Amino acid sequence: MPSTPTVGVLALQGDVREHTAALEAAGVQTCPVRRPEELDAVHGLVIPGGESTTMSNLAIAFGLLEPLRARIRGGMPAYGSCAGMIMLADKILDGRDDQETVGGIDMTVRRNAFGRQNESFEAAVEIAGIDGGPCEGVFIRAPWVESVGAGVEVLATLPDETIVAVRQGNLLATSFHPELTGDHRVHAFFAGLVRQSG
Ligand code: GLN
Repeated sequence: MPSTPTVGVLALQGDVREHTAALEAAGVQTCPVRRPEELDAVHGLVIPGGESTTMSNLAIAFGLLEPLRARIRGGMPAYGSCAGMIMLADKILDGRDDQETVGGIDMTVRRNAFGRQNESFEAAVEIAGIDGGPCEGVFIRAPWVESVGAGVEVLATLPDETIVAVRQGNLLATSFHPELTGDHRVHAFFAGLVRQSG
């Protein structure tokens, strides 16, 4: 592991630019990942927010789904926000019938869980392990975590106990989008996981 690791951003679809800027502000090098060879070259990966059904289609079309699964099984750190959280879930609810996920986190995630009344909202979210007060949680047609397995650490919940951030080993997922807020603490936390994994 070089002193400045390279974190890839899965660049099939979604808010790639915002994650790239947040990672660079957190002091790592970045690289867009669209092809299996590009995945081989990174020390960690961010899966952005966007639309998980489209990301699933494109991951299959670009021959990336199995390489992504293999790297995650091999211990590569990964962070998924919103649609990225869906992609890291072992099981999903309310997905499209043919929708695939990369998996890796032993959790069940419900897509578009907050419903029409609450399609987009903001909430202060206190995240375990991140100092300096709550983060601004931006939720956009967000998923929530319906249940987690024994190896999954719940990092954040809303006041009604809805789980919105989790970690399992080197894998991190949030229902919300810290990349849209200018607060880089979640990306800095993930960059720390990447540095420690080397
Ligand atoms: N609802 C989207 C999905 O199912 C996620 C929305 C987002 O990433 N902002 O993938």
